[in-house]
Amino acid sequence: MNLILFGPPAAGKGTQAKRLVEGRGMVQLSTGDMLRAAVASGSELGQRVAGIMQRGDLVTDAIVIELIEQRLPEAEAAGGAIFDGFPRTLAQAEALDAMLAGRGAKIDLVVRLKVDDAELTQRIAGRFAESGRPDDNPESFKVRLGAYNNQTAPLLPYYKGQGKLVEVDGMAAIAEVAQAIDQALAAHA
Ligand code: AMP
Repeated sequence: MNLILFGPPAAGKGTQAKRLVEGRGMVQLSTGDMLRAAVASGSELGQRVAGIMQRGDLVTDAIVIELIEQRLPEAEAAGGAIFDGFPRTLAQAEALDAMLAGRGAKIDLVVRLKVDDAELTQRIAGRFAESGRPDDNPESFKVRLGAYNNQTAPLLPYYKGQGKLVEVDGMAAIAEVAQAIDQALAAHA
């Protein structure tokens, strides 16, 4: 089972992905986490992306596609991946489909966590103080939300057209969102 958790920043994708990892042994593939690890390690890649991430812009498709490709064998061995924060552009979505097809696999389900902008802004305001992420500040968050609305949300018709899109109310309590995701997974098992 390969699942995409889809939604704007602060929608709860990471929280739900971690729960699925614990409950089902799937592998979470978060390009944001991979890129933050690269920045923390001070690698050449990390140095290249640090400023872009801090601003809230997207890094280039080629970078994240390669990061994902490197991790696909591990996810396959675990029986499935939860893609968290990837794909974020049509080029990434098409590359993902091609990479999976090359391995005889596919995306089974795309769960969209729907949360409105006012709620997101409120959630993130609470996170500014505690997260320590350099992109959790009002200016960068505005850019991140803009990137989601302009570059990532247009992917929804792509997955809807493939009959894979399930919408979940991301404004509900964490446990309720979890239950809705479990139901969607059970329906597609
Ligand atoms: P996230 O933790 O998913 O919110 O990602 C943090 C930041 O990493 C984003 O604001 C982007 O700068 C970068 N990033 C993460 N995933 C991607 C992606 N799939 N495409 C482009 N940039 C990404």
